[in-house]
Amino acid sequence: MDKFELYKKYSKEIFLIDSPSGYLHLINKRISELLADIGLKANITNKGTIELFIKGKKSDKKIGVCAHVDTLGLMVRSINSDGTLNVTNIGGPLIPTLDGEYCRVRTRDDKVYTGTILAKSSSIHVFPDSKTQPRDINNIIIRLDEIVKTKDDVLKLGINNGDYVCYDTKLEFTESGFMKSRFIDDKGSVSLLMTMLDVMKKNNEMPEYDTCIYFTNYEEVGTGAAALKDLDEILAVDMGCVGLDLDGNEMNVSICAKDSSGPYNYEFTTRLINLAKDNKLDYVVDIFPFYGSDADAALRSGLDAKAALIGPGVASSHGMERTHKNGILNTISLVELYLFGKMLK
Ligand SMILES: [Zn+2]
Repeated sequence: MDKFELYKKYSKEIFLIDSPSGYLHLINKRISELLADIGLKANITNKGTIELFIKGKKSDKKIGVCAHVDTLGLMVRSINSDGTLNVTNIGGPLIPTLDGEYCRVRTRDDKVYTGTILAKSSSIHVFPDSKTQPRDINNIIIRLDEIVKTKDDVLKLGINNGDYVCYDTKLEFTESGFMKSRFIDDKGSVSLLMTMLDVMKKNNEMPEYDTCIYFTNYEEVGTGAAALKDLDEILAVDMGCVGLDLDGNEMNVSICAKDSSGPYNYEFTTRLINLAKDNKLDYVVDIFPFYGSDADAALRSGLDAKAALIGPGVASSHGMERTHKNGILNTISLVELYLFGKMLK
């Protein structure tokens, strides 16, 4: 199986599992199983970060590479008297893109109910403002696919405030090499690290230095990698920005020089740029205007490490996202060059 076919295999598993920030038991279980299948034993921390130690050829520094497995989502805020649900957002979804999406309400006793995310004025034949009502968090509701006419009907189903609402990713790979889906940020990067680990094990490769791989949670709400300790370098693999005056695009790996938290480590970032340049990867160096990463969260929590950020260009972020096979493969290559000093076959 070539690398991109392997990538598709992992992403089809990982994108299928609902995992808005904090709803982590299903995804952590499945990723642990997938790691076990390739002979890697992961530990899950109290906070819910999956961590994996890989012995390197040298131990004079310790490397961390992270991607976040949590996604955006919604949560039930309150139940209306007509049996619809008000919601609050988890992270920052582009709310207008949610109008009309199918979803699942997951109760705390593991019942799952389907429904649709809709604007309150959802019928063009009835509501004078059906076209103009703002599609914001205060004007969308969940219509459950159950016969419910009152708040009590909903409560009887076992649905309550604080239940997670998860919506479809709609993952598709096109013949032309595009991957379109919600949550390429950052399940796209989790899948590419899984691909790299799989190839590493098959080839019996060892990283240059002792390495920890982390699949973090709560990144979309700001604290993802905040609990990491004892690393000399931390590389966050997350989506690259596309749009406006940025050079980033879906074909390239973006190397971020600065985001909303300021510049990344100068020496580490320069080393990544040189690796990309010397090995003829398609890459860009960019500034991400409205962006925070797990590397930022780690530094803010007190981690004393050099931090850098790379990732495939992802268009229409936090909405209906898209990237391309070339962006994914360039990113895998850069992570491999960084960890192994060469691209894995
Ligand atoms: Zn992200």
